[in-house]
Amino acid sequence: MYDSHLHTPLCKHARGALPEYLEAARKRGLAGVVFTDHNPMPAWFDPGSRMSPEQLPLYHSLVAQLRQDDDFYIGIGLEADFHPGAGEYVRRQIADFPYDYVIGSVHYIGAWPFDHPDYQDEFERRDRMEVYADYYGQVYAAAEAGIFDAIGHLDLPKKFGHVPPEEAWDLVEGVLEVIRNADLALDVNTAGWRKPIGELYPAPQIIKRAGELGIPVVLGSDAHAPEEVAWRFGDAVEVLLQAGYREAWVFKNRRPEPYPLERA
Ligand code: ZN
Ligand code: FE
Ligand code: FE
Ligand code: ZN
Repeated sequence: MYDSHLHTPLCKHARGALPEYLEAARKRGLAGVVFTDHNPMPAWFDPGSRMSPEQLPLYHSLVAQLRQDDDFYIGIGLEADFHPGAGEYVRRQIADFPYDYVIGSVHYIGAWPFDHPDYQDEFERRDRMEVYADYYGQVYAAAEAGIFDAIGHLDLPKKFGHVPPEEAWDLVEGVLEVIRNADLALDVNTAGWRKPIGELYPAPQIIKRAGELGIPVVLGSDAHAPEEVAWRFGDAVEVLLQAGYREAWVFKNRRPEPYPLERA
């Protein structure tokens, strides 16, 4: 198994040195990892939660230093924010260095970082359906942008318990169809089990539908600390098997490689 969603301290809100993440991954018996730290964005977009553009060469060299000539795979990627007005910036950024895997994630609705613990009161001022419509509208655009390999944590607004209303299901269906048509994968992200919602991203019923549509999955812990590497991967595999998945993908040089999903 591979953990394809790992952060590093360069993003300013993760801890632990890169070799510690690696050690944790080996201890858990993984076949490899992909680092996908928060990408640099234009200076006006949330500079406190990501590496700066000047740190990109450092990020690449820190990951390169980890590689030894054995068969443990160490990929490099980005979790790139998709935000209005920044798509071209990200597209050019990804062309500047070689990457193995790029996740497209939506963390903002307009100027509101809806998954930030300090700004959850905004949910009380907005209609829940409007929040999900705005969010999935952005995710839809991200999927159509032709920039990414996978869509990150597809139902992120639920993080603190603000679950989608029933009517949001049609939006999910539409987004899954565009994800499939764009040949994107889904980031199946166990961080949701560490958050107040206590549920996998995306929810099992979304994974089930994604499976019916033939959308591939990429497993990730979204670790922001070494002990979170491969967090509850056994449970995630169980959800995927029950949804009918028999394999997951790991990306190497922006190309997917399937590997079998097996109970530990
Ligand atoms: Zn983060
Ligand atoms: Fe994220
Ligand atoms: Fe992440
Ligand atoms: Zn994330």
